[in-house]
Amino acid sequence: MAQLTDDCFAFSGPLLRIEEMERLIDERIMPVAETERVALLGARGRIVANDVRAPVDLPPFDNSAVDGYAVCHADLRPNGKTTLAISGRLTAGASPHIDLKPGQAIRIFTGAAMPQGADTVFMQEDVTVKDGCLTVPKGLKLGANRRLTGEDVRAGAVILPAGTVLEAQHIALAAALGLTEIVVRRRLTVAIFSTGDEVVEPGAVRGSAAIFDSNRFLLAELLDRLGVVITDLGIVPDNADTLAGALEKAAGHDLIITSGGVSAGEADHVRKAVERVGKLVFWRVAIKPGRPVAMGVIRGTKKGESAAFVGLPGNPVAVFVTFVRVVKPLLRRLSGARPDRLVPLPVRAAFAYRKKKDRREYVRVTLKQGSDGEVEAVKHPQDGAGILTSLTETDGLLEIPEDVTSIEPGFRVGFLSYATLTV
Ligand code: AMP
Ligand code: MG
Repeated sequence: MAQLTDDCFAFSGPLLRIEEMERLIDERIMPVAETERVALLGARGRIVANDVRAPVDLPPFDNSAVDGYAVCHADLRPNGKTTLAISGRLTAGASPHIDLKPGQAIRIFTGAAMPQGADTVFMQEDVTVKDGCLTVPKGLKLGANRRLTGEDVRAGAVILPAGTVLEAQHIALAAALGLTEIVVRRRLTVAIFSTGDEVVEPGAVRGSAAIFDSNRFLLAELLDRLGVVITDLGIVPDNADTLAGALEKAAGHDLIITSGGVSAGEADHVRKAVERVGKLVFWRVAIKPGRPVAMGVIRGTKKGESAAFVGLPGNPVAVFVTFVRVVKPLLRRLSGARPDRLVPLPVRAAFAYRKKKDRREYVRVTLKQGSDGEVEAVKHPQDGAGILTSLTETDGLLEIPEDVTSIEPGFRVGFLSYATLTV
């Protein structure tokens, strides 16, 4: 369970800008403290707990970058071809038992250790070999095609800073340095449930006014990609008592996420329920789509037990956008990960768009190549917050900054792919 104060989500402004929200999260949420040692294989998605340093140099010895011939650069004639006697052969993995003497070359293969006395390697494509002699052209630089000890990583350097979210390439680097385990923060535990009398389980008998639950599936899959442990609490009806009971029972988790029931309507009971078993605040995040997001802390029945709470809107597109822009930064902070560095890629808008100042808007778009070869973003024709196909038929979101009020065709706008937003 997370260590949160009752007022950690409180803020005083009417509209919370996204940077301000990120600052609040960073200031007030403390990462979970517990760590564990895990094997390299299977550590993808885990969060590095302490800086990891390289125990050895990488590469661990000077070696050849190509198949060819190792020579001593000082033996080469500066103004013409040089002929050298081939005196030995070194394959990858062979100990470099032979020393190179003046006037000699050694046949060498990629990854083989450089012999004593050699400092440069000719590629086999660039030389001629006849009767045990090698002839090389002039002009190759000293040190060409040789990989130096530690040129990738120096022993003692920090290779995985604390807070790194481990990807395949980080695990490969740790393996290359001979590590077998990494100390990571423990996984977060997250409980989710959907709310709404109209919401039923996919496959269940559906009454004429019911809809199948999609938000829980969206959230479960988005959370799974972030490596958290999920407890699926199903669908809870629009009843403040039942909702309060469900929230209280889930207070042993780090975070509880619900969807639906958080607007100001009479049938929106989530807010009331949260107030009964914890503390509620509202974040009117200046973001569209995504109406106010309810935040809070839920107290459990056990002493000291408390969970963070996020109540997302009911409409699936609003759930998606608020998840990637509000819940994800919160989860990263709780998990001990460094903040996401989302760099939108500039693309050309193929449409006109008007928006209100002072809020950030996300427009669902498909990318295509324009006639001049430039990448163009085409807006989905439907922009309702309940239109799920506007997410399945597009590639990502255009991020339109707070100060912009209109986009014209040809303007450059930042694009964030769904792939970058959901990892
Ligand atoms: P609410 O915020 O509860 O008023 O919900 C807003 C809209 O989202 C309504 O049309 C709901 O039927 C819909 N909705 C709520 N929960 C879900 C869900 N789990 N899956 C799909 N749609 C939902
Ligand atoms: Mg509802």
